[in-house]
Amino acid sequence: MANPTLLILAGDGIGPEVMDQVVRIIDWYGEKRSLAFDVEHDLVGGAAYDKHGTPLHDDTMAKALAADAVLLGAVGGPKYDALDFSVKPERGLLRLRKEMDLFSNLRPAQCFDALADFSSLKKDIVAGLDIMIVRELTSGVYFGEPRGIFEEGNERVGINTQRYTESEIDRVARSAFELARRRNNKVCSMEKANVMESGILWREVVQKVHDEDYPDVELTHMYADNGAMQLVRAPKQFDVIVTDNLFGDILSDCAAMLTGSLGMLPSASLGAPNADGRPKALYEPVHGSAPDIAGQGKANPIACILSFAMALRYSFDQGEEAARLEQAVEQVLADGARTADLMGPEDGTPISTTEMGDAILAALDASL
Ligand code: NAD
Repeated sequence: MANPTLLILAGDGIGPEVMDQVVRIIDWYGEKRSLAFDVEHDLVGGAAYDKHGTPLHDDTMAKALAADAVLLGAVGGPKYDALDFSVKPERGLLRLRKEMDLFSNLRPAQCFDALADFSSLKKDIVAGLDIMIVRELTSGVYFGEPRGIFEEGNERVGINTQRYTESEIDRVARSAFELARRRNNKVCSMEKANVMESGILWREVVQKVHDEDYPDVELTHMYADNGAMQLVRAPKQFDVIVTDNLFGDILSDCAAMLTGSLGMLPSASLGAPNADGRPKALYEPVHGSAPDIAGQGKANPIACILSFAMALRYSFDQGEEAARLEQAVEQVLADGARTADLMGPEDGTPISTTEMGDAILAALDASL
């Protein structure tokens, strides 16, 4: 059987540095676990603009659509800040999300015990935390029409429209229920059905999908403002949270900070399943290109590495191998390995990006 295909778009700033460590881990799986991938590399963001005058070349877009999964590093940087909006590095990422129709954004918030002191919350509230926020990514108020700034009488009015169709809610709800079945079988749906009609429809459709096809999953509904409070009060009550684009944007950032550092946070964006049952999929760390530390070997590669673990689980059905990688990360953190972002000023000398990769590879070897 042909190897599964991966398109790697390392991008800008620390993107290539952290992705180098992922490539070492991909090679490890080929050598040590007979799990080989056909890997192709291409450009995105500023790097693509420098070569092609566009942040995502059409050929790269075609490769992304054909690949079994795309791994992305990060895009952007001060060098590109003055570019026209239409060719800014971020447009490359937006084009990928749009043309791959990646409607379901998975943001885990997992607190490794060794880092519990790093959270802004008390240790006992976050230690062992493992929740997943599923954010609808391609509709809602960021896309709804009408939108714009209009003249109204003698002043201007800014308008955005929250708009969701039943089918858009249906498909993201399904993706949350499917995920819950692989985890602790609980979904909490968040909206503002008390003040928004789109929230009433959201709640109705999520409940209908549940009753018809996922009655085995425990479903609760919560107003999103209460959800924000509960996330910082008692986050461990949740398993999977499903919510719209706007609330998901805010709630997932809030949940992310429960776990400490940006350098630890992976994400997946999934679309509809292909004929082979695999969803279209893009995996990327939550962090950006970190121009302040780029090229210095200081970046933490764990967010990018854990994004590859998500690819193993959600694109390649290799849950056990994903867990092996996550446990290797947990082990090196428990052993005290720390890049600079995971340390206070008086905590000693940090290790480099490559040394963190070395440590994780050694822990993978030890797992055999
Ligand atoms: P950022 O995430 O790049 O950096 C924020 C802070 O966190 C910086 O101090 C950085 O050094 C630190 N940091 C981030 N990732 C780290 C890692 N892996 N290890 C150690 N420290 C890490 O956000 P920013 O500074 O607001 O944006 C910088 C550039 O990245 C901008 O051009 C922005 O548009 C772009 N950006 C891209 C993405 C993406 O590619 N998905 C996301 C956010 C921002």
